[in-house]
Amino acid sequence: MSDFDFDLFVIGGGSGGVRAARISAGYGAKVALAEEYRLGGTCVIRGCVPKKLMVYASGFPGAVEEAQAYGWDAQIGAFDWTKFRGKLDAELTRLEAIYRRGQEGAGVTLYDQRATVVAPHEVQLADGTRVSAKHILVAVGGKPFVPEFEGCEHVLTSNDMFKFDTLPKTMLIVGGGYIACEFACIMAGLGVDVTLFNRSPLLRGFDTDARDVIIGQMERAGIKIHTGVVIDKVECLGDDFRIHASDNRDEVFDAVLYATGRVPLTEGLGLEDAGVKLGSRGEVLVDAYSQTNIPSIFAVGDVTDRIALTPVAIREGHAFADTIFGAKPTTMDHDLVASAVFTQPEFGTCGLTEDEAREKGPVEIYLSSFKPMKSAFAGNPEPVFLKLVVSKEHRTVLGCHIVGESAGEMIQMVAIAMKMGATKEQFDATCAVHPTMAEELVTMRSPARTD
Ligand code: NDP
Repeated sequence: MSDFDFDLFVIGGGSGGVRAARISAGYGAKVALAEEYRLGGTCVIRGCVPKKLMVYASGFPGAVEEAQAYGWDAQIGAFDWTKFRGKLDAELTRLEAIYRRGQEGAGVTLYDQRATVVAPHEVQLADGTRVSAKHILVAVGGKPFVPEFEGCEHVLTSNDMFKFDTLPKTMLIVGGGYIACEFACIMAGLGVDVTLFNRSPLLRGFDTDARDVIIGQMERAGIKIHTGVVIDKVECLGDDFRIHASDNRDEVFDAVLYATGRVPLTEGLGLEDAGVKLGSRGEVLVDAYSQTNIPSIFAVGDVTDRIALTPVAIREGHAFADTIFGAKPTTMDHDLVASAVFTQPEFGTCGLTEDEAREKGPVEIYLSSFKPMKSAFAGNPEPVFLKLVVSKEHRTVLGCHIVGESAGEMIQMVAIAMKMGATKEQFDATCAVHPTMAEELVTMRSPARTD
């Protein structure tokens, strides 16, 4: 008989938390989980899922244009945002219910309220109840970061993007990472006049060639991109907003979105009082087993600021459960995690950029850029772009960067080969699937550049 109320108390019902809770309960642990908002967390409620549905919604004007070019008498009418938002809300509610059933079915006790840590084995719920647990798992995620400036209270964050009563006609998006670029493409696709400001080049940290292709296509899609610009002031004019920027630009927009990064959501969580060490960004510092310096307290997902991606949080949560309750010590391997930026064109990436790889040794660079059959037939001049970064010494494929339709789907498959340490020659020994875009991955014969 345990001295604690629970074997495990999970704080946060997002991707990492629910996975850890369900798997731990499956191993026979007595588990509780507290969520202050909605089960599913950032990914399901205000991130990946609603964003991807908006990506789909924004792609239809282009699809209808293509259909016309193929001979269809197709016309697109106006976009009914209210109808879409209603369906989106219903879908999120459906998914949230699935998450709840999953937890309840696994025997997890749910608390629909905020929980904070008060001691290494104790949490306090918002209603004042104190609960003890042998292990505490912090999986509270992150929140959008908005820098301080005059009028910063007027700007929107990604949390607000699914809640508009009506879509703005003009929108300024500030930032140059995943979220800024994705929403710039989504909103432009939905007919919004989009301007994008960033303090540095867009998609900094990603492969330069791939970035250039994406940025070029975003500009040709009508997105007005200005880099090297920051905002000094946002003034609310009633229904719209006047911005003043560092390059003396003065403009009025219906809405201003800040997508300038996310920070771990540890403020006020009681972790420091319980002795848990945090990093400079407020992230929970953990070892490879997601354990903090306090042996009973663990953390997974965005709150640890390792790789802020849903599948990573899920793996970390699962590894925690296997280690603590499944007698299978497991760590999440953070190497070669593929990801996709759902810009239009889509961007799939895995491994090192050309610059990163070259720092480690000589490389060969294989490039392919061509007009894909489907869109070229419709008269669309935009190319698909594929790049392999290959170690000259070991022949392994160190990086793969794909820009084009379904790049996210393609990179998932490439990541398997890369994770197995596949060489360029093994890629080439794989027979092509024809006619596809991905066949170019196994038919790039001569390097475009070599060290
Ligand atoms: P990112 O870290 O990707 O990008 C932040 C951007 O904001 C950068 O361009 C950065 O510029 C700029 N910025 C940062 N601070 C300031 C500041 N004080 N003033 C002006 N500009 C600033 O963050 P996001 O918010 O786009 O996304 C957060 C994370 O969420 C991502 O890193 C990713 O892990 C995850 N995510 C993943 C998605 C996916 O898998 N498709 C989709 C959405 C989010 P600079 O380059 O100069 O630093």
